[in-house]
Amino acid sequence: MAVLKVLQYPDEILKEKCILIKKIDSQINQLIDDMIESLQSFPGCVGIAAPQIGSSVQLIGLDVGGHKKTTISHGLVVLLNPVIRMQEGEIISREGCLSLPDYTGNVKRAVKIRVCAQNRLGQPIEIQTEGFEAIVLQHEIDHLNGILFVDRIISLKTDLFRRKFYKKQEK
Ligand SMILES: [Zn+2]
Repeated sequence: MAVLKVLQYPDEILKEKCILIKKIDSQINQLIDDMIESLQSFPGCVGIAAPQIGSSVQLIGLDVGGHKKTTISHGLVVLLNPVIRMQEGEIISREGCLSLPDYTGNVKRAVKIRVCAQNRLGQPIEIQTEGFEAIVLQHEIDHLNGILFVDRIISLKTDLFRRKFYKKQEK
């Protein structure tokens, strides 16, 4: 296992649509292990997508357990080829991203979602969740389509914030 370097905007890989994982071979298993280790190595990190660590395949990992905004948590979740099957409601919240470390932004997301995917054994799984976990899932699935949270911001003037400034305001 290894903690991999996180690619940052404007790296081209972050803009690509990731390919479907058809076979879970040793390479994919290694990538999953590295992704989990990378996710757990960054303090406060709740989610990561394979393209962020340089692999343009449809794979994400998340763990919102223990985060102050969490209402529902499925613990550590690894999803291959995730697809959003249902979404409901609308919520605007402040998001950040390892690939854009200096910024946060206000992004509109669905409140509740249901996602179909495969687990690391290739078995079909379905996750229904809401609130912060649903927001993180939508953010990570966006990465697989080459979309960053800044692409979803309505106004770069009023909805994008420098992180330092944001932290100062929070005190
Ligand atoms: Zn991100």
